[in-house]
Amino acid sequence: MFKEKDIRPKATEKLVAKLRLKDIKTNFLDNRGNIINNYFLEVGCPSCGRKNNPEEFMKEKFSFKRCKCCNTLYVSPRPTVYRLLKYYKYSKSIKFFTKEILEKTINVRKEKIFKPRAEKVIFYTKKLNTEKEQLIEIGGGNGIFLEVMKGMRDGFKNLLNIEPSKEGARLTKNRGFNVINDFVENVEKLRADCICAFELIEHIFDPLSFCSKVNNLLKENGIFIMTTPNIEGFDLMLLGKDSDNIAAPNHLNYFNPKSIKMLLKKTGFKVINVETPGILDVDIIKNKFKRGYNIKDRFISFLLTKDQRFLDNFQCFLQQNNLSSNMWIVGKKI
Ligand SMILES: [Zn+2]
Repeated sequence: MFKEKDIRPKATEKLVAKLRLKDIKTNFLDNRGNIINNYFLEVGCPSCGRKNNPEEFMKEKFSFKRCKCCNTLYVSPRPTVYRLLKYYKYSKSIKFFTKEILEKTINVRKEKIFKPRAEKVIFYTKKLNTEKEQLIEIGGGNGIFLEVMKGMRDGFKNLLNIEPSKEGARLTKNRGFNVINDFVENVEKLRADCICAFELIEHIFDPLSFCSKVNNLLKENGIFIMTTPNIEGFDLMLLGKDSDNIAAPNHLNYFNPKSIKMLLKKTGFKVINVETPGILDVDIIKNKFKRGYNIKDRFISFLLTKDQRFLDNFQCFLQQNNLSSNMWIVGKKI
């Protein structure tokens, strides 16, 4: 099992967090440090649509609401699409993250994240008898997943990345892949057998429209595979607002197995599987604990004193019972 430090060197990550706070200040706050109201829109639950849910907490000026109906956690009010685009375009923290973290951990990520991802995609395409003509990755960044996918046996004939960032599109092209440098919302006339969106839907302003769009771009019986945090997972439940993953405006939607199923059903999919194969929960908690974070739960503190084999077993238990904070979702267009 790989560890948190392999993909997120702590010292650099601290810098990213600092830069992100600066980005928030520049993009969304007035001189007094209050949010600029007309940059924001109030929204209902991104899964079931319930409005007027109570605020669970504030973090870095953003209000996080918890849906009373489906337990989804979401940011509302949230920056308008225009303001989000501007933020992503000029964000210093994202630039720094890409350069200093993503690029520098690329080999570990390739081996430990992208390869298992590609294997799992192939597994599902076999299981569901998916045609192998066209695979699209949405938000595929620098094209690493496509590169790994290309090296797989029984892979796809055509691979395409739909990537809004210029830098990501450029790097994808350099790797020899087709890329559309735009938002998926602006893409028409494509038909795919399989669409993948890894760690993306949590960033999206309107997940319902996004999933409908994905459905439109799929051929009949085409499959949609995505990953996203599970708000009912171990480290997210335990740390709550103190989790580094709770970071607006980058992350706006935190689904759980039930609410992500609901979203897919609403947008024309049959849910094939929702699982939580995440492997970092225990390591994340252990690292927080080591750095002096006060874990109030006596039982969890006790667990953390156990040896690595025990902790690995506990992580397996979380995976097998849909209790890890990283979720995989597979849907089939109906
Ligand atoms: Zn809801």
